[in-house]
Amino acid sequence: MSAFVCCTCGTQFAESEAPPPECPVCLDPRQFVPPDGQRWTTVEELRATHHTVVRDDGELEGIGSEPFFAIGQRALLVPFGGQRLMWDCISVLDDAGADAVEARGGLAGIAISHPHYYSAMVEWAHRFECPVHLHADDAEWIMRPDPAIELWHGEFLDLGHGVTLVRCGGHFAGGTVLHWADGADRRGALLSGDIVQVIPDRAHVAFMYSYPNLIPLPEAAVRRIAATLAGLRFETIHGAWWNTVVPADGAGVVARSAERYARALRDPGLI
Ligand SMILES: [Zn+2]
Ligand SMILES: [Zn+2]
Repeated sequence: MSAFVCCTCGTQFAESEAPPPECPVCLDPRQFVPPDGQRWTTVEELRATHHTVVRDDGELEGIGSEPFFAIGQRALLVPFGGQRLMWDCISVLDDAGADAVEARGGLAGIAISHPHYYSAMVEWAHRFECPVHLHADDAEWIMRPDPAIELWHGEFLDLGHGVTLVRCGGHFAGGTVLHWADGADRRGALLSGDIVQVIPDRAHVAFMYSYPNLIPLPEAAVRRIAATLAGLRFETIHGAWWNTVVPADGAGVVARSAERYARALRDPGLI
């Protein structure tokens, strides 16, 4: 028995004798199955071929895996009392990564923006005996069910220590961002996964139904995200990959980008 991991999306599945017949996350139009077919690895193989790295990423520390694996996101370690809250997750858990997190007080919990980053959440939760907070609207995408997973409902979940989960929808029905009130010297930070996508100029963000397949969101969904975030104070925005940080005026960047997106949907000449 082994916990198989999809090489394309990084999702770890419940233990089984043989690889799962398919990966529902990759069959969904928001992801893809490569033209040469589905490939699988296992937790044990992944630990032999990849390792974790912890380093500063803007005002926060991130934890990622090297070499690049699957979607390539890094997680963030948010100060949470004397511990850390892991925002999003990665597919690799090795002793060095666990020791590094332990040295920072361990994990009080894990919160994840959407199913593309569920990755090895259950393995991390077991290692630190902590809960995983997932929005209930995305429960169908859980490939390794576990008692550590706590589904939350509604629009906001106050986790304490200035950390609030906010459902934005869009990319996924339960698409969630994390608001960290103490971030950016208490001016607030938004940890956005790819629910709000940090793009190259750092002066705009974008919003998509599918990133690899370039399928946009309708205007109503983008306006809903912007309206939800308009009620929050934040200066910085931390995206899903290393070095994806909007350094200033985060709330303004989201508001202006949503307007630009809506104009572009009507006619890119209006941008
Ligand atoms: Zn997959
Ligand atoms: Zn995604």
